Amino acid sequence: MTRGRFAPSPTGDLHLGGARTALVAWLAARRSGGRFVLRVEDLDPPRVVPGAEARIADDLRALGLDWDEGPDVGGPFAPYRQSERRALYDQAIARLTDGGHLFPCYCSRAEVARSAGAPHGPGDDGPRYPGTCRTLSRAAIASHQRSGRRPSLRFLVPPGEVPFHDGIHGASSGDPAAAVGDFVVRRADGLHAYQLAVVVDDAAMAITDVVRGADLLSSTPRQILLFRALGAAPPRFAHVPLCLGSDGERLAKRHGTIAVRQLLERGVAASRLVARLAATLGLCGPLEALAPRDLRDLIGRCDLAHLPRSPSVIDPAGF
Ligand code: GLU
Repeated sequence: MTRGRFAPSPTGDLHLGGARTALVAWLAARRSGGRFVLRVEDLDPPRVVPGAEARIADDLRALGLDWDEGPDVGGPFAPYRQSERRALYDQAIARLTDGGHLFPCYCSRAEVARSAGAPHGPGDDGPRYPGTCRTLSRAAIASHQRSGRRPSLRFLVPPGEVPFHDGIHGASSGDPAAAVGDFVVRRADGLHAYQLAVVVDDAAMAITDVVRGADLLSSTPRQILLFRALGAAPPRFAHVPLCLGSDGERLAKRHGTIAVRQLLERGVAASRLVARLAATLGLCGPLEALAPRDLRDLIGRCDLAHLPRSPSVIDPAGF
């Protein structure tokens, strides 16, 4: 039995890009007759927008997507909100510590950014960590501890490429040591990092198929290292190409109305919205209208290996 998931961060309303990713994840899970999980990634309190979780769930339902497990419907792997799963992340930290995979780092972000020769990693990953605290002596750690500075915990990244098969892009790989270096799994303020939480949850929830946005492609090699260090088998991965605005930049508010809710409120039919998203994925013709009940017609057409590999330009005005 396959298990897929959609894992939104409740930091705002569902937008077209997120809806498109959710659609593919849902179609892939339904096509394989598997279960589909909704997991809410609300780990970072300042970024969580009150009410966003319920709004995202409503918008997904309005589009015709459903889930077998999630915060609202429960399930065998509850809880389905990351904010309620912190004990599991602590257990994983303990396990990684026991395995010698972590080390305390006392550098601030600014110090890492200033470090000589720290080239920038891909995407939002910031500068590559130059390894400053990798080899701190016990005496140096003790002196940091006395100063009261709290460390982050970083994962000791082994050198080399991490190859993997991507369901959409085929043979893929990344070199986390070269791209980002030893990455943070628990921040100095005690918050667990996305990279850790997502791996712990995908393993604990027995997720077999991770279908998510291509913005996370560069995270996958890091996550595979974490799966291995935690003694868990990595799932299959597929990264849905991003949506771009007409200027070639990532689709954003300045390109027009991109919130699903707003489009529905303006009277765009859910079936039309889904059909347009499906059309950008080559799953139906541009003018093919789908009634909500016909969403299931797309299931048979969604073969990940045949989805487009490059980003789609989307004009929100056309929705
Ligand atoms: N919560 C992440 C996001 O909304 C997605 C995480 C994932 O799918 O691995 O970008």
